[in-house]
Amino acid sequence: MSTQGQDGERNYPCRIEDGRFVLPCASLASVFDGNSSGRGRALYLEHLTNIKTLKPSRSFVVMRMGEHAKKGIILNCCPFCGERIDAPVLDATPTSNGGDHG
Ligand SMILES: [Zn+2]
Repeated sequence: MSTQGQDGERNYPCRIEDGRFVLPCASLASVFDGNSSGRGRALYLEHLTNIKTLKPSRSFVVMRMGEHAKKGIILNCCPFCGERIDAPVLDATPTSNGGDHG
């Protein structure tokens, strides 16, 4: 049962890296690519940058269309593979006190 040797088409689902970054599946990534005409494009991969470290802190998928074209909606799952991709936004840890109690 080998899945190697096929052409470049990959079918892996979306993944969440480090609990903070969306790694889109091939279908979803093709939407972000923008190498098509761009007509009707409604999904965007947004990145947040940590202002202190100037490194990307998390990424998530936003849908902008219709009445939500301005603010957008964060997708909680991939419309193509169905994997949950909302972990980066659910992982909102409250920064109350940096408790180090172990
Ligand atoms: Zn997907």
